[in-house]
Amino acid sequence: MNECKYLKFCAFFKEAKDHEDMDVLNEYVKVFCRGPLQKKCYRLDFMKKHGGPPKSSISPSGLDYLEYLKIPS
Ligand code: SF4
Repeated sequence: MNECKYLKFCAFFKEAKDHEDMDVLNEYVKVFCRGPLQKKCYRLDFMKKHGGPPKSSISPSGLDYLEYLKIPS
């Protein structure tokens, strides 16, 4: 499986690499950036539609991973 051609420039991928202790980010990389759902990446779709990437915390699924870090009240 080829890597996503935006890997070197992708802010989400960089954050995932900076937080390798976060399993959920590693899974995203495995499934999207280096895996079978690469062409279904929300960030790619967003870039095509808007001409630029979404904020770095928007994951390839389209969910903001920072939301996972919030503790439910
Ligand atoms: S998050 Fe999307 S655009 Fe970024 S490297 Fe992964 S597959 Fe490519």
